[in-house]
Amino acid sequence: MLDDMLDYLEHIRERPVWQPIPQDVRTLFQQPLPKEPTDLATVHETFMQDILPFAVGNTHPGFMGWVHGGGTPVGMLAEMLAAGLNANLGGRDQMPIEVERQLVQWVRELFGFPETATGLFVTGTSMANLMSVLVARTAAMGVAVRHKGVGAGDKRLIAYTSAGAHGCIAQAMDLSGLGIDALRIVSTDDQHRMDAAALERTIAADWSAGLTPFFIAGTVGTVDVGAIDNLGALADIAHREGIWFHVDGAYGALAVLAPDIAPRLEGIERADSIAFDFHKWGQVPYDAGFILVRDGALHHATFASPAAYLRRETRGMAAGSPWPCDFGPDLSRGFRALKTWFTIKVYGAEKLGQVISDACALARHMGRRIEATPLLELLAPVSLNIVCFRYRSEDSDRVNADIVTALQESGIVAPSTTTINGRLAIRAAIVNHRTDARDIDALLRTAIAFGETFAKTAQPRKAL
Ligand SMILES: *Cc1c(COP(=O)(O)O)cnc(C)c1O
Repeated sequence: MLDDMLDYLEHIRERPVWQPIPQDVRTLFQQPLPKEPTDLATVHETFMQDILPFAVGNTHPGFMGWVHGGGTPVGMLAEMLAAGLNANLGGRDQMPIEVERQLVQWVRELFGFPETATGLFVTGTSMANLMSVLVARTAAMGVAVRHKGVGAGDKRLIAYTSAGAHGCIAQAMDLSGLGIDALRIVSTDDQHRMDAAALERTIAADWSAGLTPFFIAGTVGTVDVGAIDNLGALADIAHREGIWFHVDGAYGALAVLAPDIAPRLEGIERADSIAFDFHKWGQVPYDAGFILVRDGALHHATFASPAAYLRRETRGMAAGSPWPCDFGPDLSRGFRALKTWFTIKVYGAEKLGQVISDACALARHMGRRIEATPLLELLAPVSLNIVCFRYRSEDSDRVNADIVTALQESGIVAPSTTTINGRLAIRAAIVNHRTDARDIDALLRTAIAFGETFAKTAQPRKAL
């Protein structure tokens, strides 16, 4: 199995990025519960034949569709060790939790947070954003909110984010019981950053209406175009108004590791909480999300629950309190810290930063090539690692949507689509450390070839 997976990663470039799942393969996985055992070698064979070839392809250098990390062999091997150990990191006195605490310390150092800040591995930034909303809610309403609920009293909490923010911010408002309507979507400027003046006006209007502004979520690396909000300006407003300042840095926050990009994240060190993923630009295998909270006591007060069977001691296995389960909703938790620790130890922080710098350089190279190609048009400034463009033609939305589908089905390279100022764009997000100039060439060359075909025909799919 190890040989198979190491071969797979070594020769990934020779495979299609993605291929459609044949119907007979799909139906193989619609069987009744097996009562009898099956030989391990047979099950492994099924994995190799019917699962491995039909993954989404984010380990492949041609994958640019969404903001997915590429993973590494080092992370894969660490996952094997973690699974062998089968550690449960909810609590108790064990070295795996010290590894997670080491990571918390490194993350504090990365973002210039104080020793009193706390952190936790979670599934991903969606969960980390939700938890940040919950901690901010506790800050605004007091710990009693955990008993009385957000509906008690007459405070109506209002949150703010930009039109470029990820959908999970709205979902966090929903899941926390505050409601999606209590999230204001602030307009963006020509660089797709939250408009700070518009934010101030909206907050002032809400205070005047008797509402309680409590949460501003800035973004480092929007999913559409890779924009970075002006974090310093947002921090100023949040501090002046007494509002919690959160940063959704799902993939972009780790750009603090890249010396050429880091200055643009200035202000992140003033956040009250940061949500980000090691599984995107950090190249750690899925899943490895993280939440960092400046006020560790408040973080603890938001989630800690007393329970007789979770009694703490100062000696024996029940020592080492507070435990990770006191800082989030999960009790049983896997050893995500190990693959992250291995990744940082083996490659070093500088190398991980270099991967981020290289991805941005590649995106700028791609942007310049598009601007130099009359058949193509750049649809948004290349701010970070995401490039949005289109093939110029009549009926452009249809033609470009068909180009993207055809590219994905070709197996050569896999971008996705998004909509920029009402126009459908081909979107390439460069996240994988394996992607290089060859993949950019292949994307532009193949997009133009498909574009020429589809622009000529009303029924492009048949033209293939
Ligand atoms: C990916 C992403 C998320 C969601 O993170 P998950 O790890 O997928 O839960 C949130 N915000 C931004 C900006 C993202 O890129």
